[in-house]
Amino acid sequence: RKAMAKGLLTADAARSLVGSVDAFLFDCDGVIWKGDELIQGVPETLELLRKLGKKLVFVTNNSRKSRRQYSKKFKTLGLEVTEEEIFTSSFAAAMFLKLNNFSPEKKVYVVGEDGILDELKLAGFECFGGPEDGKKNIMLEANFYFDHDKSVGAVVVGLDQYFNYYKMQYASLCIRENPGCLFIATNRDPTGHMTSAQEWPGAGTMVAAVSCSVQKEPIVVGKPSSFLMDFLLKSFNLETSRMCMVGDRLDTDILFGQNTGCKTLLVLSGVTTLPELQDASNTIHPDLYTNSVHDLVKLLQQ
Ligand code: PLP
Ligand code: CA
Repeated sequence: RKAMAKGLLTADAARSLVGSVDAFLFDCDGVIWKGDELIQGVPETLELLRKLGKKLVFVTNNSRKSRRQYSKKFKTLGLEVTEEEIFTSSFAAAMFLKLNNFSPEKKVYVVGEDGILDELKLAGFECFGGPEDGKKNIMLEANFYFDHDKSVGAVVVGLDQYFNYYKMQYASLCIRENPGCLFIATNRDPTGHMTSAQEWPGAGTMVAAVSCSVQKEPIVVGKPSSFLMDFLLKSFNLETSRMCMVGDRLDTDILFGQNTGCKTLLVLSGVTTLPELQDASNTIHPDLYTNSVHDLVKLLQQ
């Protein structure tokens, strides 16, 4: 069998790609939308791929929403996508605890937003922290001693727009002082499209802060970790050699696809630029690249 050509997506490459996979995994920000704005040509692309019988799955590292909240976002943008087709890093954190038999007697401290709290609660775990703790702060007065809950058995860190010194200390105390306490990161994206207008510091910045304080590396459950894929494969009857990961980031999406044996398609509609892809210092090479997912439709119709 002829190996698929590496490089620009051509009409031949698009036909060969579509013929050789049963499922497309789409990253969301930079591929489907940018912040809250739908990327041009997405509805037509999804419709065509569904018509061709392809399974579509959506994988986002953004932990701010739960699967349920994301299916609403898809609907608002005019896309019919079910909760079961959506895999978020917030859901991944909850599933990681579940699959590792995390004791329901123990609590989870969350540096993050409602998406993580919602998924943890849905999975039956007791959790606290989140946006509420954004109102708290510590007074660094003489001899101030900050106590923490000894029944916390896991700390989950994701993007938190209310991140503060209180949370950093609370998370650090739990990880450092509670025996066996897990340190879980939803993802390590350096930046994210918190708004469509510009990029903002991503979850990776907050993970780095806690990791620096405790001098420990977290367990990452979002892309590029293969954890999400193992879970995805349990949910659907698919094999990774017949899947294509479509994403805009080399170090999360394309690496995730490569780590798990998928074909990979980089789109330039998000954070990665063509000069970055072609830079000699870049070590992550997708199988194919193109401007946006809309090109799939255009090329297949040629
Ligand atoms: N995390 C946050 C907080 C974000 O805002 C974004 C993008 O908007 C991401 C992660 C990356 O999301 P995705 O994996 O869908 O590109
Ligand atoms: Ca992305």
